[in-house]
Amino acid sequence: MISGSEIIWIGVDDTDSVEGGCTTYVACALIKKLTDENYDIIGYPRLVRLNPNIPWKTRGNGAISLQVGKGNGKKIAIGEIENKEIFCHQDGSSEDINKDRLGAIVEEIIDKYAKLEDENTNSGFVLLEEQPSFEIYEKTVREIVLLEETEKFLKSSKAFYRGYKNKRGIIGATASVAWSSKNDKTFELISYREKVKWGSKRFVDDSSTKKMDKNCSLTFDNYDYGNKHNRLVPSSPCPVLFGIRGDDEKELINARSMIKSEKVDCWLIFETNQGTDDHLQRKRIAEIHPYDSVIVEGTVCKLPYTIEGGHVIFSIKDSTGGVDCAAYEPTKQFRDVIRKLIVGDRVGVYGGIRRKPLTVNLEKINVKHLEKQVEKTENPVCPVCGKHMRSKGTGQGYKCKKCGTKSKKLVLKEKKREIHIGFYEAPVCARRHLSKPLKRMSEP
Ligand code: ATP
Repeated sequence: MISGSEIIWIGVDDTDSVEGGCTTYVACALIKKLTDENYDIIGYPRLVRLNPNIPWKTRGNGAISLQVGKGNGKKIAIGEIENKEIFCHQDGSSEDINKDRLGAIVEEIIDKYAKLEDENTNSGFVLLEEQPSFEIYEKTVREIVLLEETEKFLKSSKAFYRGYKNKRGIIGATASVAWSSKNDKTFELISYREKVKWGSKRFVDDSSTKKMDKNCSLTFDNYDYGNKHNRLVPSSPCPVLFGIRGDDEKELINARSMIKSEKVDCWLIFETNQGTDDHLQRKRIAEIHPYDSVIVEGTVCKLPYTIEGGHVIFSIKDSTGGVDCAAYEPTKQFRDVIRKLIVGDRVGVYGGIRRKPLTVNLEKINVKHLEKQVEKTENPVCPVCGKHMRSKGTGQGYKCKKCGTKSKKLVLKEKKREIHIGFYEAPVCARRHLSKPLKRMSEP
């Protein structure tokens, strides 16, 4: 067990299965238990999304972390669980806390809530006295981390940790603690359903969601008007009723009160890295690896075409090579933008790398230069007679019917492009948790 008397960081990951559960719900249960036993929560609980391209994630590759200790400083209301108001403290003191008991509480909660019977659930938790370096988080949100790396780090930090089954959960649990909001952060207020309702169809009213969307300007990804999709509501059978994402935690409390829905059992606000683009790295094409998420600049070298399933594919190149880019069918209207690109356009593509065939799965695109597109408008005019000449057949030029003058000159006119310089993004219904919405981009 760890020694000393500092504030303790707790990280938890990989507790749910496709059949149900949710790591953020485990956070609620943990916070309830901790506050019942007089531990204080320091700062907001954190929901940290990690590499969105790893094949073994259940859904959104989210892990949770929180700080506990003896609170001081401002007390902030962050939720309500079993009719008890939950607070966090702005700061915490290093007053002695019972760490043995803390470890036992986390184990008790994981034993109770983790879906360990599912073969793909490999829960893990960590208790750390010091926050690991930000680089550990950066690597876990952008690359693949080996279990041995994480274990080596945890052993050298004298952490108390436990990995269940193949132990993979400790990777995300550690990275979640390593995240800091120094570059960017957002919040998500998550409301949970009554237990009797789990697995059944959710009721969250669309018109109240749209009203909230229009009134709460700092929230994002609420409703997809083009596809009539309420993005607050998950589609999995998990305990979440709805989640409202936004930049201002106080506005989220107001936003919640505007949503008409079935009964909310409990709710909690998380600080998160959602909507920050933290997963993206600027790369040249030759540097791209499977499971990366990248920003790559290149010139369109193959016209967009549609393949079976409605996915739209085109290719770009830079001085190091070429790569396919895809706007998949679920990105709906975004594909219509992609279809307007032509060879020679210069673009920055943002997205995750599919392994086989190596493809950039587009999240957004920055159109930087539009190639001139020309079209033939009319046959040339005879320089002798002043009349329009006749075509001699495809590619064979023109001839004046009256005087026989020949010409190969085409009359071309610049065609108006139906796409503009600037950013385009996948619609709300297809947006990834980590993708920064254009609404949040100050300098797109
Ligand atoms: P939940 O939100 O309930 O945790 P999920 O969709 O987020 O579900 P998990 O079930 O947590 O996915 O599965 C992801 C697993 O991958 C976890 O065990 C986590 O520790 C691990 N993991 C996360 N990021 C990486 C990474 N970059 N490299 C290797 N393993 C990772």
